[in-house]
Amino acid sequence: LPVVAIVGRPNVGKSTLFNRIIKERLAIVEDEPGVTRDRNYAKAEWMGHEFDLIDTGGITWEDGKIEEEIRAQAEIAIEEADVIVMLCSVVNGVTDLDERVAKLLYGTKKPVILAVNKADNPEQRNNIYDFYSLGLGDPFPVSGSHGTGIGDLLDEIVSKFPEKEDYKSDDTIAFSVIGRPNVGKSSIVNKLLGEERVIVANQEGTTRDAIDTPFESKDGTKFRLIDTAGIRRRGKVYEKTEKYSVMRAMSAIERSDVVLLVLDASTGIREQDKHVAGYAHDAGRGIIIVVNKWDLPKKNSTSAKDFEKVIRQEFQYLDYAPIMFVSAETGQRIDQIPIMVKEVYKNENQRIQSSVLNDLLLEASSLVPTPMIKGKRLRVYYMTQVKTNPPTFVVFVNDPELMHFSYQRFLINQLRENFNFEGTPIKIIPRKRK
Ligand code: GDP
Repeated sequence: LPVVAIVGRPNVGKSTLFNRIIKERLAIVEDEPGVTRDRNYAKAEWMGHEFDLIDTGGITWEDGKIEEEIRAQAEIAIEEADVIVMLCSVVNGVTDLDERVAKLLYGTKKPVILAVNKADNPEQRNNIYDFYSLGLGDPFPVSGSHGTGIGDLLDEIVSKFPEKEDYKSDDTIAFSVIGRPNVGKSSIVNKLLGEERVIVANQEGTTRDAIDTPFESKDGTKFRLIDTAGIRRRGKVYEKTEKYSVMRAMSAIERSDVVLLVLDASTGIREQDKHVAGYAHDAGRGIIIVVNKWDLPKKNSTSAKDFEKVIRQEFQYLDYAPIMFVSAETGQRIDQIPIMVKEVYKNENQRIQSSVLNDLLLEASSLVPTPMIKGKRLRVYYMTQVKTNPPTFVVFVNDPELMHFSYQRFLINQLRENFNFEGTPIKIIPRKRK
């Protein structure tokens, strides 16, 4: 999906605008159980155009100077986004900091749209003309809190989206390598690309193409490795802050079909691993857990099993993710990674016929009685798959309130037992039968 980033000095109302834009969409996804509650990154939609929206300022910058903060924001936007929205506020007029943000954006070839917030009334809308001085073209007056001007701004944003094929070609499996620092992400990437046939980009590329590496495995499968912050280009300002690298990782996750979550066998599982895992799970992408540095621990015949046990305990919600034990150092099993990625990609994209699903439903209801709440029993009528990647099933019932989480879990397990959904989350949406 195209990525839109909102940048701007503090207090211009970036989060308000962000929330305003994603509002509709959030209402739909809010009831899905999630591990993270991060709202700096969200999906949005306008007139049939879906996109990912980043609020680069929505994250507090613990020890940061304001200069560093806006530089980091601009860097992220320039690297990540397809369209950048620079936000100012009409209340204060053009400030020094606004000028500094604008300057940081001058160098980019990405489209930059200037929006002036807090233009709540006609008089304030008159004051937006000062903002021509920033040299970013026509300012769009908006009011994040009142909701005015948002439609025009969104029209402008979606008109600047790149052609579809620029950011995803359909026969290519996009995957990314994520994990906390030093688990060996870049070592894995380098080893992997050293073994596979890297395709040299033939077209005049955008920045995006330079970050992603297309390669072809021995059986002719096309992959696109999405680079996350710091894997192959270190030294950017924002990399010093964990929260910003998390944001970069989230952006990579969103663009991936499959995510490799890398753990370090020599250190065991840390708190930060769980945060990263939570993001990957919430995004609904296929996940493979890769235990790296498998050359380091002293091993016996049960080492892998023991480690696996700990992983299953610590990441219970990732029970669908296969686990691989590799070493970037010795190259052990690195060549199995593309094979596994391809397998998970296949699983998350499979479609099950409704007739087959309803046989399964019939069998399931004979195995376990449906839950009963306050004397009312859940009745399950039929089920149909509405989406792939992740596989999403709508189940028509007499009353969605009766569709207990545990019963959803049961249905998901039934699906897993009958079909190969290894590596992919499964979503169940209960609907009332009309
Ligand atoms: P990143 O921050 O996740 O990209 O981690 P790096 O790839 O930079 O690796 C961090 C350190 O771990 C480096 O010193 C690597 O040489 C080392 N390392 C990475 N993979 C392995 C491995 O499989 N075995 C061993 N022994 N060391 C590794």
